[in-house]
This record gives sequence, C-alpha cells and structure tokens, in this order.
Amino acid sequence: MPQYRVVNSDQLQTFTDGYFVNNIEFDKQHIWHPYTSAVNPLPCYEVVGAEGVELTLASSEVLIDGMSSWWAAIHGYNHPVLNDAAHKQIEAFSHVMFGGITHQPAVDLCKTLLNMVPAGLERVFLADSGSVSVEVAIKMAIQYWACQGRPEKSRIVSPRNGYHGDTFAAMSVCDPVNGMHSLFEGVLNKQIFAPAPQTRFGQTFSEDDILPLEDIFEKHHHTMAALILEPVVQGAGGMRIYHPEYLKRCRQLCDTYDVLLICDEIATGFGRTGKLFACEHAGISPDILCLGKAITGGYMTLAATLCTEDVALGVCQGEPGVFMHGPTYMGNPLACAVANASLSLINENHWQQQIPAIEKQLQTELEKCADLPRVADVRVLGAIGVVETVNPVNVAEIQRHFVKQGVWIRPFGKLVYIMPPYVISAEQLSKLTHAIYTALK
Ligand SMILES: *Cc1c(COP(=O)(O)O)cnc(C)c1O
Repeated sequence: MPQYRVVNSDQLQTFTDGYFVNNIEFDKQHIWHPYTSAVNPLPCYEVVGAEGVELTLASSEVLIDGMSSWWAAIHGYNHPVLNDAAHKQIEAFSHVMFGGITHQPAVDLCKTLLNMVPAGLERVFLADSGSVSVEVAIKMAIQYWACQGRPEKSRIVSPRNGYHGDTFAAMSVCDPVNGMHSLFEGVLNKQIFAPAPQTRFGQTFSEDDILPLEDIFEKHHHTMAALILEPVVQGAGGMRIYHPEYLKRCRQLCDTYDVLLICDEIATGFGRTGKLFACEHAGISPDILCLGKAITGGYMTLAATLCTEDVALGVCQGEPGVFMHGPTYMGNPLACAVANASLSLINENHWQQQIPAIEKQLQTELEKCADLPRVADVRVLGAIGVVETVNPVNVAEIQRHFVKQGVWIRPFGKLVYIMPPYVISAEQLSKLTHAIYTALK
C-alpha cells in the first residue's frame, strides 16, 4: 500500500521525524468528503478495484454495489465498451475548447440525445456537472423572460423535498430545510416553495395535491420565470415517489400562466424509473430538461441542459443576443465519447427487461422490511428501492454492518435506499435486500 507523509501543522514534528501514515489516515486528516465533517469525518473505505457490480476494498473484501456510484454506473464498472470508447478518444484527442470548435463526439452525442428525449426539445447545452446544468437551466429561464421585456419574471418555484445540486442557484431551489437555507440567508435567492406532492405513485390522485401550487401560480405568475422539479421521483431531498398526474398538472399550470417548466432528470433519466425518462410517466415534455449522472455510465462528469426552439430563440432575441455561459471543459470530447458508448448500451434496450425485473424483486424482497418496528415506509419504483426508518440511522454503524455483509449501501438520515446497476443479477440483488433487512431487524 502506498505511504504518504502527513504535512499538516499538527503533524509537522512527526513529519520531520519521518512519520508515515496509510491512505485512510492521510485521507482522514487532509481530504474533504461529501456531506461529512472534515475534522471528525464518517469512516471511509478504500476501493482498489471495481468490476461489473462489485467494488474491491484495500482490505480485499468484495462488495456488491447498491448505489451505482450515486445513480451513475448503470452498466457496471470497468465495462469493456466504455473502456474502449475512452481509449479510442484518448488516442485521437482528449480535449479541445468548445469556443469556435466542434467535434464528432459532441455532434454524435447531441444527435443521440435529441432522438431519445421527450418531443419538442431541440437545443443542447453541454455542461460539466449536474449542478452546472441546473445553473444553466435557471439562467436560461431568467434570460428568456428578460429578453421578452419581462425582467420581473425572475423567480423560480419548486416543490419542497427537491434536490437540484450544491451550487448557489441550484441550492436556492433545493428543499429549504435539507438544503440548510437558514445558513445562507441573505445570500441565496429567495425562491417560492410549494408543498411536496403527497399522492403516491399508484394511488388515486387527490385533487388537493395540486391546489397549493395552483394558488401559487395564480398569485405569483407575473414574477415567476420557471417551475423546476424532479419528475415522479424526488431523489436526495427525500427519495419520494409521487403520482405522475401531479407532473401533468404542473405542465398545464405552466402553459396557462406563461411559466417555463424545467424537469431535472439528472437522477431519473436513462431508464431508472422504468421509462427512458420519468416525464414519460406523465406523457409530458418540459421546456428545459437537465440530464447528467448516468449519461456517461459513471465514467466521468458530464451533463446536458436541453431546451425547446422557443426557449433558445427567446434567450437569444434582442440584447445581449447571446447566452453568457461557457465552461472550460464544455463538450469535453473524452466525456462525450464515453457518453456515446453509454447511450449506445442504453439504446440496446436491455433496460426494458432489466428494470421491471429489478422492480418486481425489490417489491417482494423489501416488503418484508415494512413489518419491522424500526421501519416507517417501504417504496419502490423501477430500479429504486427505499426503506424509510422511524429514526435517523447511525451511518457509520450501519455501513459497518453492510460491509461485513459484502454490500455497498450508503444511507442518509432516515433513508436506506438502493439504485443498483441495471446489470445486477437476481442473486446479487437478494444480497442487497437481505443486508437491508438484517441491518434494520
Ligand atoms: C445529483 C443531482 C444533481 C446534481 O448533480 P451533480 O453532478 O452532483 O452536480 C442535480 N439534480 C438531481 C436530481 C440530482 O440527483
């Protein structure tokens, strides 16, 4: 195992004495990890390999992956087709600026995306992460109205329990409690929040569900640029699965009141919910669509913001006539090439058998958890399985249990959830659900 010198001030003495620590120890002392303290972090596991649906730890333990590395690695790890695409593109060229330059991988990607997404979306902005694609979507919506001579239409509406990323505009439309808005009061844009949709997927839609949002549209439409939401499945803001009729009504309200609809399918896109895009459950198309995560099959960061011709024309009409956004790595050829390989795998359509099979198995096997006293709710849609507990789980403790059971599951708060790679076998999936059951028993 490689050894590193510790160079922080506390360790300076021992450093000069030639003190060395292993990776985990170095990491703990110097490296930030997502959503944990830098000074007293949750434990970290060192991965040395990943293949198919399995992660190999430095301790030689092999874990079945239940997380798809946060919705991304849908085809499994170390995939020969994705590897080959990356190798080929590296041999050609890894990156060129996108200002004044285009290339085959970007053209191919945008063609393929436009053939896959819901009808009406015609223009693609390639962004470098999900959060940035949300920034781009919000910026487009605001500029659209400003260029129509209606600059007062600048606020964004969003249901509670949403999650749209960690950058500032994205954060301003995340759930205000989960997103810790009070910490950033005065810095975050004040957006408008509607109650989260309550009718569950599969239940009879309750008309009451849409009333608060109708009220907001009626009162505030003249200052509203867009409604942003995650279609059908709210991800990191609560793992909630709601009735597609809510989404349909959102589309109608946006049409009636001249408000743009932004659908954030960064988590739900590319088959995860049993449809290629979750919008399809409601049969609607947004004005602006954000994609990310699984787009490269979990190989590297890439996202896309797509919009209608009307939005593109609106944004670029009059002054300034351009959209002022251009990440350095915009349209990164390496990421585009891998995305093309990932989309070609998706378009082989094995997901159409894989997702319903995973859904059925999750429903039967997670149902048992519903009887446990520590469990408040179990819900499943497509290749997403959620067990909500009564009290928040002890992440470090439950994770230790999971690793001992040979699975990788990373809960947060009261949510123990899995969204495994689509290529997981029935036997591997059973190991995941069994580990959840024994952890909560
Ligand atoms: C993960 C996620 C984002 C943010 O994407 P990053 O690539 O992490 O910036 C935005 N919206 C949704 C719905 C997500 O799940």
